Amino acid sequence: MNKVLVTGGAGFIGSHFVKRLLQADDVATVTVLDALTYAGHMENLGEAFFSPKLTFVQGNILDAELVDDLARQHTAIVHFAAESHVDRSFLEAGSFLATNVFGTQILLDAAMRHGLQKFVHVSTDEVYGPLLSGSATEFDLLRPTVPYAASKAASDLVALSYFHTYGVPVCVTRSSNNYGAGQHPEKIIPLFVTRLLKGRGVTLHGDGGHVRNWLHVEDNCHGVERVLTDGTPGEVYNIGGGTDLTNKQLTEILLRLCGAGWDSVAFVADRTANDRRYAMDCTKAAAALGYQPTWALEDGLAQTVDWYRKNPHRWAPLLRNPHAQMPAISLRTATQTGTTHA
Ligand code: NAD
Repeated sequence: MNKVLVTGGAGFIGSHFVKRLLQADDVATVTVLDALTYAGHMENLGEAFFSPKLTFVQGNILDAELVDDLARQHTAIVHFAAESHVDRSFLEAGSFLATNVFGTQILLDAAMRHGLQKFVHVSTDEVYGPLLSGSATEFDLLRPTVPYAASKAASDLVALSYFHTYGVPVCVTRSSNNYGAGQHPEKIIPLFVTRLLKGRGVTLHGDGGHVRNWLHVEDNCHGVERVLTDGTPGEVYNIGGGTDLTNKQLTEILLRLCGAGWDSVAFVADRTANDRRYAMDCTKAAAALGYQPTWALEDGLAQTVDWYRKNPHRWAPLLRNPHAQMPAISLRTATQTGTTHA
């Protein structure tokens, strides 16, 4: 029976994953290690908190002694804990490197010492950088453009180096943009939804033509679980949602679902280093693990908007929390660069 340590399990994706894992017959125990930064909330775990299988530990992945003690008691680690918001990484790159790179290395060291059977390192499509055409496969070069993506790319490489050097059974998942219930309102979908539901306006960067792939959080968690169970050590798996949209197209859907119009939208100068387009080829996860996204985007977004409509007590306090607010950053009109992948 598996004993799984989930880092960042009180965050957005990690908490959905914990709820999923608690349902698995072959999982005996799940321990969440989470520092409860501004992004982590016990409420995200909901009733899962009462599961006899679940233990919650508030602690930092940079605490090597704590991590070592926890790793010793587990058979696998699924590593979600990270500083995850791109805009914040412009202001405090150091904490992104500390948590995302050195935190990952501390976990890997502990996994090596205690001979864990699997280490799933959860990463992002942003490590591939912008693509003007085509889609990135797991073999493509990493060309991150912002500190967040660079810290994730570095941590991916460190994780894979522990497989090659020490035989730690590491798998890396790279997913596209997640959405769903319980995401912090600093990210674009919950930011727009919470503002539109309050009758407020939203801003689109540049011409709104930046392309992102959207993945329902439950689909991502399914993919990560497939990798935990059957992923081959040393391999990277792209996990996508099947739907590429410009931010303008996404806004159109959100306006409709929230009952608002284009008069609620202001176009502002583009953000620094706002990658023009991300796109991933996900055929490897489909062929090797049978992974396919199941959520249609419109259904998933309707479910998400419905959750924010029904749960203002979950997100309104975050709007009042000064740590949840982004300090103003200087904007410039970004040069919209990208590389072309065949
Ligand atoms: P999140 O910000 O919602 O949650 C991060 C969690 O990690 C929080 O609970 C926080 O308290 C915890 N944490 C942060 N620093 C910590 C530390 N030093 N020690 C222990 N816990 C710490 O993030 P998320 O959106 O759920 O993302 C989870 C993972 O998935 C991250 O690794 C992120 O890079 C990756 N990812 C996210 C997306 C997305 O669209 N959200 C897309 C691709 C990949």
